[in-house]
Amino acid sequence: MRQVAIYGKGGIGKSTTTQNLTSALGEMGKKIMVVGCDPKADSTRMLLGGLAQQTVLDTLREEGEEGVELDDVMKSGVHGISCVESGGPEPGVGCAGRGIITSINMLENLGAYEEDLDYVFYDVLGDVVCGGFAMPIREGKAQEIYIVASGELMAMYAANNICKGIKKYADSGGARLAGIICNSRNVDGELELLTAFASRLGSQLIHFVPRDNVVQRAEINKKTVIVYEPECAQAEEYRILAGKIDGNEMFVIPNTMTQDELEKMMMEFGILEAA
Ligand code: ADP
Ligand code: MG
Repeated sequence: MRQVAIYGKGGIGKSTTTQNLTSALGEMGKKIMVVGCDPKADSTRMLLGGLAQQTVLDTLREEGEEGVELDDVMKSGVHGISCVESGGPEPGVGCAGRGIITSINMLENLGAYEEDLDYVFYDVLGDVVCGGFAMPIREGKAQEIYIVASGELMAMYAANNICKGIKKYADSGGARLAGIICNSRNVDGELELLTAFASRLGSQLIHFVPRDNVVQRAEINKKTVIVYEPECAQAEEYRILAGKIDGNEMFVIPNTMTQDELEKMMMEFGILEAA
């Protein structure tokens, strides 16, 4: 069983990429569980065809620890993908990252990590500033980390921060950076920039996912692109990404960058005008 976490700044396309990628892996016959680790609880919506998933934390609040059964928190989506949303605390109360810890522990206790699973994917919010969100890395729940980024400064800033988290817990947790996924924002020179960035981190740009409006059309129809328009070019991109991840063997402890270095790199690639 490969346990994979997808990190990246909010809105960068983690949930879209995770669902399309797992949909493509599902199509290949892989057995998968997706665990949403974002208080927004929208990590499995397209896999479930819009079915509102009861989150682990909500279920715990309503039924108490004793009353929760696996069926309450795990639903089967397209290609038989098992879907879980950890959810979050009531708004403004407590650390949202705690939901992840509680959820993974509960899933372990309820026997969700079946032996025949090929993959578990965690779709994790944030830039690893909060300890809770770093938990899959810190405690070695995920061994492979992919970071979704684009050529925008804040996306790369977050990616670099996530790498700092991976590096910090590399010995204790054992997680490794497995690659950068560029989810394109059509920034000038984006492919070259992200290729150089990934290489500077000691890793690889595993795939460049183009920006395409079919993603929005599929999303409105509550489906992955793979299911909504299986023949389109974007579906093929997600299949290529899935194939690359399935065959990936490049797992590294990243070399991180300073903020200065990061900005200099962006200037070199013509994204920022030198002051
Ligand atoms: P995150 O999970 O990182 O917060 P989402 O996956 O929810 O981000 O993506 C944010 C929005 O960006 C989504 O509503 C989706 O429609 C859009 N999006 C993501 N990837 C693409 C893409 N490759 N092409 C077009 N739109 C995209
Ligand atoms: Mg998301």
